[in-house]
Amino acid sequence: MLEEELEQEEQLLEGDPVTFQCPYCGEIMDIFLDPELRKQKVIEDCRVCCNPVELRIDWNEDGLLVEASRS
Ligand SMILES: [Zn+2]
Repeated sequence: MLEEELEQEEQLLEGDPVTFQCPYCGEIMDIFLDPELRKQKVIEDCRVCCNPVELRIDWNEDGLLVEASRS
């Protein structure tokens, strides 16, 4: 039983887009993150205003948390 639940969770994480809001222009964007990027920072350029957005990625029991800030 427990093994089945874990499998489902992994599948979800792999396919889940992450939504964040650009701190410069306010655009809402989706990106797909590698589940191996746990608790890391990535820089993603905004598709609209092209400014670098720093994403702090944190996984916890509720799922994925992303904090977007100006880098
Ligand atoms: Zn932007």
